[in-house]
Amino acid sequence: MRYAERPVIGISSCLLGQKVRYDGTAKRDRWIVDQLGKHVDYRPICPEMAIGLGTPRPPIRLVGTPEQMRVRGVEDPSVDVTDALEDFALNTAAQLGDISGYVFMSKSPSCGMERVKLYNAKGHAEKKGVGAYARVVMQSLPHLPYEEEGRLHDAMLRENFVNRVFAYRRWQTLRATGLSAKALIDFHARHKYMVMAHSQAAYQRLGRLLSHLKGVDLGEVADAYEAEFMTALKRRAGRKRHVNVLQHIQGYLKDRIDGSDKRELLESIEAYRREEVPLVVPTKLLRSYFRRNPDHYIDQQWYLDPYPESLGLRNAI
Ligand code: SF4
Repeated sequence: MRYAERPVIGISSCLLGQKVRYDGTAKRDRWIVDQLGKHVDYRPICPEMAIGLGTPRPPIRLVGTPEQMRVRGVEDPSVDVTDALEDFALNTAAQLGDISGYVFMSKSPSCGMERVKLYNAKGHAEKKGVGAYARVVMQSLPHLPYEEEGRLHDAMLRENFVNRVFAYRRWQTLRATGLSAKALIDFHARHKYMVMAHSQAAYQRLGRLLSHLKGVDLGEVADAYEAEFMTALKRRAGRKRHVNVLQHIQGYLKDRIDGSDKRELLESIEAYRREEVPLVVPTKLLRSYFRRNPDHYIDQQWYLDPYPESLGLRNAI
C-alpha cells in the first residue's frame, strides 16, 4: 500500500446521514459512507444550515434563467437566500485548500452540481440549474474533482472520480512539499500511463509544459500543469486507450517471461478488449508478473496501483 495520506473530501452533510434536510431527514449514501469512507476523511458542510435556516425549514428552489438564478422560498418568494449562500460559498472555498474532492447532493438548489430544477416566471421547471452554493465553490476551486452522489452509482463515473481524488492528493502533496524541476518531472513520469489511458495528446501537452524548466517561474508552470492534468483525468478512459496502455506495459516483460506466460497475458488483454473480463483482470496479471520480474520504471507507475484496491473499482469497468 502506497497511500500514506488519506484524502479529505468535502461533502453535503446529509449524504453522511446528518438530519439537516429541509424536512428534518437525511440522505445517507451507503457506498459513500461504508466503502469510500474507509479510505478518505470527510468534511461535511450543509450550506443551508450554515446560513441559519435551521431544520425543519420551509423549502427553497431555484428561480429565474440559467444566467440569472436566485434561490427563493417556495411558499414565500420574497425570501431570497442567494446572497447568503454565495457569500458562505466564497468564505468556505477559501478554507478548502486541503481537500482533494467534493461530493454534492444532487437536485438541491444549494448543493446540486448540474441539472437542478430551475423555475421560470410562469412556474414551469427545466433541469438547467446549478445549486447556488455548489456553483460558487466550483468556480472558486476549478481543478478540484467534483461529483454528485447519484452519478457515483455509475461504475465508470465512480472510478473516474476516485482516481482523480487520489491523483489530486498526490499533486497537492507535491506542491506542499516544495516545487522543483526534478519533482515535477518525476510526477509526470510516474503518471505517464495513467494520463495516456485518458488522452495521449494531453500527455504530450503536459510533457511540453515541462520541457524548459530552467529560469522559469515554477509556480506558473505548476498552475498550467495542474489545469491540464486534472482536465485530462476527467476525460473518460476508454477501453481502447486502456488496451493501448496495457500493451505498452506488457512490452517491459518482453525479454523476461516465456512464451506461455506471454500468451496468457495477451489473452487476458484481448479478453478485456472483447468486454469479457473487467480491467482488474489484465492489471492484476501484469502486477503479478512484475512482482516476480521487477522493473523499477513500471513499479513507479501509478496506473497499476492508482487507489486502494479493496474499493474494487476496476472489477466493474
Ligand atoms: S443538500 Fe446541501 S443544503 Fe440540502 S440538506 Fe444536504 S447538505 Fe444541506
